[in-house]
Amino acid sequence: MSVTTAQAVLTLLGDADRAALLEIFGERVRFNEPLAPYTSWKIGGPADALATVNTQHELAELLRFCLRRAMPWWIIGAGSNVLVGDGGVRGIVVRLAGEFAAARVRVEADHIIVEAGGSADMALVTAKAASAGAEGIGSLAGIPGTVGGSLRMNAGTDREIGEFVREVWVQSPSRPAAHSTSVRYLYRQSTLARDVVVSRVVLEFARSTSGDVRSEMRTRLVRRKETQPIALPNAGSCFRNPPDDKAARLIEAAGAKGWREGNAEVSPLHANFINNLGSATAKDVATLLARVRRAVRDRWNVELKLEVHLVGVFIDAT
Ligand SMILES: Cc1cc2nc3c(=O)[nH]c(=O)nc-3n(C[C@H](O)[C@H](O)[C@H](O)COP(=O)(O)OP(=O)(O)OC[C@H]3O[C@@H](n4cnc5c(N)ncnc54)[C@H](O)[C@@H]3O)c2cc1C
Repeated sequence: MSVTTAQAVLTLLGDADRAALLEIFGERVRFNEPLAPYTSWKIGGPADALATVNTQHELAELLRFCLRRAMPWWIIGAGSNVLVGDGGVRGIVVRLAGEFAAARVRVEADHIIVEAGGSADMALVTAKAASAGAEGIGSLAGIPGTVGGSLRMNAGTDREIGEFVREVWVQSPSRPAAHSTSVRYLYRQSTLARDVVVSRVVLEFARSTSGDVRSEMRTRLVRRKETQPIALPNAGSCFRNPPDDKAARLIEAAGAKGWREGNAEVSPLHANFINNLGSATAKDVATLLARVRRAVRDRWNVELKLEVHLVGVFIDAT
């Protein structure tokens, strides 16, 4: 191991940090915790600490702690759009649970209002909203993830979550109490500041007939099953679509379907997906991403941009 590699995987936590975290979180903080089980790719080395936070008050306390100790932190949602390096993540990885997982739906005149915590499951949110007749919710059906992660990514299909946002509440080290903020939503990204955690969101939909909305949702879910390898560990589309084209089309036409690096494979079903065939590493996936990008550049002169977020230390961890 080179000195640089050794430094990259060295924990940033001292004994005093561990003691302070244990005092706040008890069993809900884990040290040197592998992140692979927390991602849909099932890939990723250990976090120095993984803290599961149940309330806005706890989150504020943790963010204050990070500010005081100049401790790096990163928030993970359902891990369905991230590639975590094999060397893991230094500092504290934050996971929201408890009150952040709640989602409530109510009818307000001719609108359906959804109030959800930052870690509310999109499957739960879309199912509840569809039952109430939220028009447009079908566009978000089948997107695995949390509300907070989806907001940062402006997740969607023909329509995106940003279109339905009425209010966003965030917390940050410099402003730990929950406060509302305004965000702009772009294609698969938002202007949400990097150092904020989305703790609560209010979505607003026009009201339609629940039967129609549910039936549209079922149709879209069936179509997803037919066109995407949803039973295998992956992170959905790896690259953003370039203007007026589809990344999957360009990748397929470059002949990359079925390409492999180690245990990672470009999906034979959907060329913009990379599957973990069992024991793929982040290095396998990153190498394959680079190969695919190069092939598309060489064949089509198009520079594909990553949609998935790369996080942590990308080294050979062995
Ligand atoms: C099979 C499959 C199909 C998919 N289909 C689609 C699709 O149709 N459309 C689409 O847009 N995406 C799709 N995705 C990608 C992914 O599901 C979405 O991007 C999803 O919204 C990510 O949410 P997450 O909670 O998993 O976020 P993560 O992957 O955990 O995180 C993504 C980013 O958001 C940040 N983040 C997470 N939670 C918060 C929070 N509370 N506050 C602030 N920042 C936060 C993270 O730090 C990270 O930078 C698919 C993925 C899979 C595996």
